[in-house]
Amino acid sequence: MIICVEDEQNICELEVYTLQSFGFEAKGCGSGKELFTELARELPQLILLDIMLPDEDGLSILRRLRADVRYTHIPVIMATAKGTEFDKVKGLDGGADDYIAKPFGMLEMVSRIRAVLRRCSSNTTNESIITYGCLSVNTAAHTVKVCGENIILTLKEYEVLKKLLQNPGIVFTRDKLLNEIWGYEFCGETRTVDVHIRTLRQKLGAAGELIETIRGVGYRLAGTK
Ligand code: CA
Repeated sequence: MIICVEDEQNICELEVYTLQSFGFEAKGCGSGKELFTELARELPQLILLDIMLPDEDGLSILRRLRADVRYTHIPVIMATAKGTEFDKVKGLDGGADDYIAKPFGMLEMVSRIRAVLRRCSSNTTNESIITYGCLSVNTAAHTVKVCGENIILTLKEYEVLKKLLQNPGIVFTRDKLLNEIWGYEFCGETRTVDVHIRTLRQKLGAAGELIETIRGVGYRLAGTK
């Protein structure tokens, strides 16, 4: 999924519509606040980030993204109406992957996005890839593949999967998963774990059966590769 952060609704809708018509999943956010709400639900492949926004500007949002381990790997393309060298340098110094000056054509936007996605996928090294049967998790890029197909997980689903993958054969109780992934404030809400395991299995399709339920105890990754 690609998130377009743009407060001008017409432009935002056009960006999302264009990306969708090119086969991308895309979603629009009108502010940084909306963006971070969305990120808590699902991590995108890329963020197209306008600089001039209400409340918090794009450069400040970029700094927050780059300072957070959960989001620092997400490629960001900055969009600005100013188009000055000054903005460009500030954006790239702040960790943007590319920069596009407004007004830009929709075809230019799509080709920039494709180029950044290509560059980012070839940058990832194989040392951070955990494979298990047909399942492959890239812990640097936070991406998951089943039989070569990208699977989009929420952050919590991803963390549960990573935890199980890093400890194959080990049984995790619901309380242990809750404590390690959600933190102490969720203690007792073990249903949360069951819900996430269920959606995780669904999303993993054929690889879903690698996650075993140990009755009355919890979950584990099936012990054999
Ligand atoms: Ca704007």
